Amino acid sequence: MEYNFADMKCTRRDFIKKSLFLGGSLLLPPISLNAEKKKGDQWIPAYERLEIEGKLAQRIKQAYAIFENCQLCPRKCGVNRQKGGKGFCRAPVKPAIFSYHPHFGEEMSLVGGKGSGTIFFSNCNLRCIFCQNWPISHEGRGKEIQDEDLADMMLHLQKIGCHNINLVTPTHVMPNILNATRIALKKGLHLPLVYNTSGYERLEILKILDGIVDIYLPDMKYMDADKAAKYSAGASDYPEVTKIAIIEMHRQVGVLKMDHQGIAIRGLMIRHLVMPNQVAGTEKFVKWVAEVLPKSTYVNIMAQYRVEYKAYDYSEIARGITAQEFLEAMDWAEKYGLTNLDPQSVALRNFYHHRRPN
Ligand code: SF4
Repeated sequence: MEYNFADMKCTRRDFIKKSLFLGGSLLLPPISLNAEKKKGDQWIPAYERLEIEGKLAQRIKQAYAIFENCQLCPRKCGVNRQKGGKGFCRAPVKPAIFSYHPHFGEEMSLVGGKGSGTIFFSNCNLRCIFCQNWPISHEGRGKEIQDEDLADMMLHLQKIGCHNINLVTPTHVMPNILNATRIALKKGLHLPLVYNTSGYERLEILKILDGIVDIYLPDMKYMDADKAAKYSAGASDYPEVTKIAIIEMHRQVGVLKMDHQGIAIRGLMIRHLVMPNQVAGTEKFVKWVAEVLPKSTYVNIMAQYRVEYKAYDYSEIARGITAQEFLEAMDWAEKYGLTNLDPQSVALRNFYHHRRPN
């Protein structure tokens, strides 16, 4: 028997609440509750260390120069954004922001008690046809601001207690982010940066972020070039480019570390959205992680695919996933030995196992 999420009567949050007592901790990561910070130790964000070393300003200069011949992402448009040129992402040279606020729907180790300080950037360099944020990513809804305003937003999120600065779709505005971070640092910013990206990143660009970003939160959307091209605007190189990017992210920040309260402070967190009809290549994905990264790499196998935007026009993805498809994905993760799966996904899996008829 198959369960379809779309037909279920309670929300995903309800599932999680109900399933925690059903043994949601079965695959809890061995390091999830470990204290990274000893009492009295002063944790400082990576970008602050780089500033102390006198290297942050140079990185900003290096990043800003790329705007003149934009190669910030694998699309490599080559437009001069300083002179008003717009490439595939249609982004201006100033950062455009749709919203900023504490977010309580992210991974628990990012949300904590006060939320993840999320800043949604307008525009996107990947533009998937099933994008849930399509008014922001595809249509570019939002407001252009100055880097100084972006710095103030970061400081506001810190002031209201957020645990991190969660930069959603940052790739095309990376130079602005670096500049804003340094401005905010001088006014007291001390939260880790979360680089919340589609994963479609160039190795050369990631190297500029080395020693600035503490938490990388990339997607791994597809393992198959044809699917990537079909559903993400011709980006057939997505699987190969993103694999290289994720390996580099791991090299920079390592496996996920948390503080004594279970809040993420540094490391790699990979998201993988299970799609209908195995479009996302989930088995290949978990096998790849197990082969090239530590098995304790944090992986969030996500069940919340829903039909959005132009996905209605593609029969293969014009439905939600079934519980069976989600359980299969989680079974593969277990089969290949991944030990640090997102606790909410584990709880959801246990909930479905409990409901599955014998
Ligand atoms: S960031 Fe935008 S303009 Fe620059 S290469 Fe990527 S898609 Fe093109």
